[in-house]
Amino acid sequence: MNTSSSRRTFTTTQRKNPAMCQHQPPCPTADSADREAARLTAHHPEQGWSLLCNGVLLFEDTGELLPDGQIIAPHRPLGTDRVMRAA
Ligand SMILES: [Zn+2]
Repeated sequence: MNTSSSRRTFTTTQRKNPAMCQHQPPCPTADSADREAARLTAHHPEQGWSLLCNGVLLFEDTGELLPDGQIIAPHRPLGTDRVMRAA
């Protein structure tokens, strides 16, 4: 009798460093504050999104979808790509 299969595994891909990052220095993880500094692994401007090396999905309106399903609301004006704005 096998009754141990009722335990659901909840620890699939959550809270781990992305093993696919081959960069030096390594990209920031998805739960670090500068997650957007990770390298792009896929860029689809025609669809309005980019995939970062750490698994973060970055949308052109600066919204983000984290690998664990968390949604980050847009927080930068459109069109200013990391450029300092004086006004
Ligand atoms: Zn990387």
